[in-house]
Amino acid sequence: MQHTLKDTASLSGIGLHSGASVEMHIHPAEEDTGIVFFRSDVKNGGRIVAARWNRVVDTRLCTVVGNEYGVSVGTIEHLMAALRGCGVDNAVVELNGPEVPVMDGSSVAFVEAIRAAGLARQAEPRRVIRVLKEISVEDGNRKVTLSPSDEFAFSGEIDFTHPSVGRQSFGTTLVNGNFVHDLADCRTFGFLHEVEYMRSQGLARGGSLENAIVLDEKGVMNPDGLRRPDEFIRHKLLDAVGDLYLAGAPILGAYHGIRAGHAVNNAVLHRLFADLDAFEIVRTYDGGSVSPAISGISAHSFAVAG
Ligand SMILES: [Zn+2]
Repeated sequence: MQHTLKDTASLSGIGLHSGASVEMHIHPAEEDTGIVFFRSDVKNGGRIVAARWNRVVDTRLCTVVGNEYGVSVGTIEHLMAALRGCGVDNAVVELNGPEVPVMDGSSVAFVEAIRAAGLARQAEPRRVIRVLKEISVEDGNRKVTLSPSDEFAFSGEIDFTHPSVGRQSFGTTLVNGNFVHDLADCRTFGFLHEVEYMRSQGLARGGSLENAIVLDEKGVMNPDGLRRPDEFIRHKLLDAVGDLYLAGAPILGAYHGIRAGHAVNNAVLHRLFADLDAFEIVRTYDGGSVSPAISGISAHSFAVAG
């Protein structure tokens, strides 16, 4: 069945790129709302931005969604991952600024806030997008593949010449709280020279060792080091969980990312939903039972909605 929050979960922090402080309230929402952002600081129309794959307007530094009025919300991926990982189908996320607070650069603070608010079971069955054939996107040496699977599987690999990162691979499935155990506390990362360049361009103004792993030529600059030896690939999978939740429902299938990033993660959703033979929408009930597919016309309307 679908779930929302029992109560509003509130958090505040700074935006990674704007450096401005922002207050966020994750409110309960009705069945079939999905995840929707509400910009309380925008006074005229267009304060609503749906967290959907076809509303993504920028993927260069983080995932940004926007609406037809030019109102956008940035750095949504770690929050989207927490909502997906905690099983939240419906929520209205109120923000008084253009960016979700970065917190510690992982999903931990969002998971804690959602868990403290609690989940409420709703009346409608959860819809799931079942992958029916392999879909992949390549961009240079980056590649993302979605394949049929009976699991909600995420795996990936990266290779960096930096000795603190190197080659890493990891995989998990989103069941039994695995998101919280395996991915939620893994932080975003960047290289010092990139951070310095971004600062010179007026970006990453809120970035610090408090909300990212930063690497210089010698190694990890954060005084407490890494939370896990393979924190980097795990964070890449955390990003993938968040980016793929812009599908509007959990994806029943296997995601595999090779040097993946936000752009290819979004591109694979565009390719999936452009091919009506590649997926079907199924309803799931408690206990994990899966209904026969909803008709292709419903699947089409689901894919193009909002
Ligand atoms: Zn990230």
